[in-house]
Amino acid sequence: MSTPLCTQCPRACAVSRETGERGYCGAPAQFLLARAARHPFEEPCISGTRGSGTVFFSGCNLRCVYCQNREISHGLLGREVSAEELEEILLRLRDEGVHNINLVTPTPYARQLVPILTRVEERLGIPVVYNSSGYESVETLRRLEGLVDVYLPDCKYLDPALALSYSDAPDYPSVAFASLAEMLRQQPSCRLDGDGLLQNGVLVRHLVLPGQRKDSIALLHALAERFGTDAFLLSLMRQYTPEFAKHTPYPDLHRRLTSFEYESVLRTASALGFSGYTQDADSASAVYTPSFHEKTF
Ligand code: SF4
Repeated sequence: MSTPLCTQCPRACAVSRETGERGYCGAPAQFLLARAARHPFEEPCISGTRGSGTVFFSGCNLRCVYCQNREISHGLLGREVSAEELEEILLRLRDEGVHNINLVTPTPYARQLVPILTRVEERLGIPVVYNSSGYESVETLRRLEGLVDVYLPDCKYLDPALALSYSDAPDYPSVAFASLAEMLRQQPSCRLDGDGLLQNGVLVRHLVLPGQRKDSIALLHALAERFGTDAFLLSLMRQYTPEFAKHTPYPDLHRRLTSFEYESVLRTASALGFSGYTQDADSASAVYTPSFHEKTF
């Protein structure tokens, strides 16, 4: 009997993960997890006072050259767990009192997550957050309809050449916009509870990169033109840390973001009418990257 070939993300590798083949993301057939613990450093509407129940999956279908989670996205640090064990981990996090279940880089496992989320949906009783690079297949996202309460995608670049250099994905801009359209179809507006925690909706993250403020500004204009500024929240991030990109041949990535760069993008976001979150200059520190060596599950 033939085994299914993996085409669940835009890389469409067509490898048989069931028989041990690995595609671009490096993910095995089973879930490969690096960390499952309460996390206090997401946006306030996600972390709240009790933290977000983050589950970090290893392997990534985008693998940006400056990734701050390099150990797991490129290095595949982690332990394989069965569907049953993952289900127990989600319920354990819920029992610890977190505000939501936050699936971090779930894309290589999205289709395998569908039966698990279907089984635990009612017992969880807290929102499920799908926290991804934004490089998604619309067909796969459709399978998640009704199972994901909050989409938390990155929107990284508008320029295909930049997407090629930094993420080996020149189609990233068009793919990310199509993915965002599907996320907004499923979750067309943001709903916060009385404590300001996001229960439904889309929160788009954009990390301003050193040397690329013009692409960031053009991206914000393109987002506003395509989707308006009311349908989703925007998190404008300044936490870029060059420590993770010293090995790259791109001099811009070897330095920190300047205040001028961040603030010029922030002014554009405000002028266009976006609402959401900003970050302070001291957020650009590796201390906000969680440890993937601590035993958490
Ligand atoms: S999930 Fe991984 S193996 Fe599957 S198509 Fe995407 S990159 Fe390739």
